[in-house]
Amino acid sequence: MKTSEAKQSRERVLDGLAAAPGIAIGTAHRHEHGQLHVPEYRIPVGRLEEELERFSHAARQAARQVDDLLNKAKRLPSAAAEEMGYLLEAYLQMLKGSRLVRGVAARIKSERINAESAVMREISEIVEGLAAVDDAYLAARAADIREVGSRLIRALNKTTWKPFEQLPKNAAILADELSPADAALLHPRLVAGLATEAGGMESHTAIMARSLGIPSVLGVQGLLEGVKGTETVIIDGGLGRVIIDPSPETLAKYRSLKARYIKSRRQLAGLASLPAITQDGETISLLANLELPSEVESVLSAGAEGVGLLRSEFLFMNRTSLPGEDEQYQALAQFVRALKGRPVTIRTLDAGSEKLPGLDSVGLNPALGLRAIRLSLKHPELMEAQLAACLRAGAHGPIRILLPMVMNSGEVIAVREMMTRIAKRLKRRRIPIADPLPPLGVMIEIPGAAVTADALAAQSDFFAIGTNDLTMYTLAIDRSDEAVANLYNPLHPAVLRLIQFSTEAALRARIPVSVCGEMAGEARLTGLLLGLGIRELSMAPIHLGSVKQRIRAMSLSAAIRRTRNIMDQVDSASISGLIDGFNAEIGV
Ligand code: PEP
Ligand code: MG
Repeated sequence: MKTSEAKQSRERVLDGLAAAPGIAIGTAHRHEHGQLHVPEYRIPVGRLEEELERFSHAARQAARQVDDLLNKAKRLPSAAAEEMGYLLEAYLQMLKGSRLVRGVAARIKSERINAESAVMREISEIVEGLAAVDDAYLAARAADIREVGSRLIRALNKTTWKPFEQLPKNAAILADELSPADAALLHPRLVAGLATEAGGMESHTAIMARSLGIPSVLGVQGLLEGVKGTETVIIDGGLGRVIIDPSPETLAKYRSLKARYIKSRRQLAGLASLPAITQDGETISLLANLELPSEVESVLSAGAEGVGLLRSEFLFMNRTSLPGEDEQYQALAQFVRALKGRPVTIRTLDAGSEKLPGLDSVGLNPALGLRAIRLSLKHPELMEAQLAACLRAGAHGPIRILLPMVMNSGEVIAVREMMTRIAKRLKRRRIPIADPLPPLGVMIEIPGAAVTADALAAQSDFFAIGTNDLTMYTLAIDRSDEAVANLYNPLHPAVLRLIQFSTEAALRARIPVSVCGEMAGEARLTGLLLGLGIRELSMAPIHLGSVKQRIRAMSLSAAIRRTRNIMDQVDSASISGLIDGFNAEIGV
């Protein structure tokens, strides 16, 4: 990552990770979590009433701000509005006479301390109490209580909290870090682009940005230094470059690059109705990954054959309570109906601390902790609600159920038993469900699962290879840590061998196998994946056109020959070279 000063201008060029393609030219908007300032002092007895009044004034003010946000949230796309609504209502309740507010007032009186420190102490006590119980739901409440506490302290300090309200027109959001839940609130029509200091290419924030089609660069060191928040900013999501205060020449160059980019996107969109067929006649299934209801339109217009991965985490984001079976059913059925007979692969909750802060167990290492299928099986009521909702949604069109982070066939057997039991119960109650029961598949994303893929294939109806986590766990590299992003490489021979191994196991067992990690959307790697035996690729809708274009230009037999050669290599540099050579020969 480098910074350079252009002559005669304040232009700052910063390089980071090319997280979501496209070019944004916008106005800087700083989005910071910001450090809370918490002064601590004692209050003389004679001034306690005054301090109590200062606190209740702050609580009323924080409630008013939340109320305002609630009104603004109503203008968001419907699903986001609903999610934000739940969350903000819960905050409002906490600010109006909850245990938190009563506890703070009691503390000011009994401990004779200022309101800010009383808030901090009260929050620590409540959160500690919640943490003592090993329960994901309560852990989520703890995060909310901290959030409400921060709002109270900001109101007491008279500092404001700005999420994405009051964005300048054409905002280029610059942040130290953005959670996937925050990213889900970005509105593609209001936000030109996004750049952050933290985050990796395969982080869920990056995935969310790609699915929203917002040009983004993550992992930009020193991004916020000296940024006031009104500068012109260029975000080149294809190159991974952010330019702050561009010179007139740079601006002109980027305006024409942007026009060219838009033109090429239009050309790719023209492929939407054409089949994804290789020069030698092999048809490939191209499906879309979905993370938000608002993306359905782009899935359909990009010509996807269906949804290969519906990440159901959106149902659990930005809220304080878990969604029940009915609510999940309504949301899933909406997808299924919208896809009009195209298959929808619904993945059960893949909660991990990275995606849903608070809903995960607070383990030492969340990536290796109680997450995904493990979390769902530990809380059978959570899994049952998901499965019942999926089965009911399956009455409206074809679905498949996909289990994340599967480690052994016991987990699949347990879920299948549960699914059969739930199906019987729903049928007894004459509730319409998928008939026959939907295929039950597993994500291959743990190296141990890939190595024992034969055993898993015997119990599963299909495989979906999650190369994002498979790469992370195989190479021991955190996919969302920018400090090791340069080492994250799905072209490591170990990763490729695991993909090959699991693909072959699926083909031997005659079950469908797809790749749905970010590799699937990289047109540069399409030949390699086809050569490894993959015939089904699921990706962010934005990549469907370029992957289809590549498929239509290549011959499968040439891809297979080149892949054999690639699989003989022992280092990623030669693998990369062979891939680039293959693509150069295709000439797309
Ligand atoms: C993966 O790990 O490759 C995958 C598709 O799942 P997610 O990115 O949601 O972890
Ligand atoms: Mg994964």
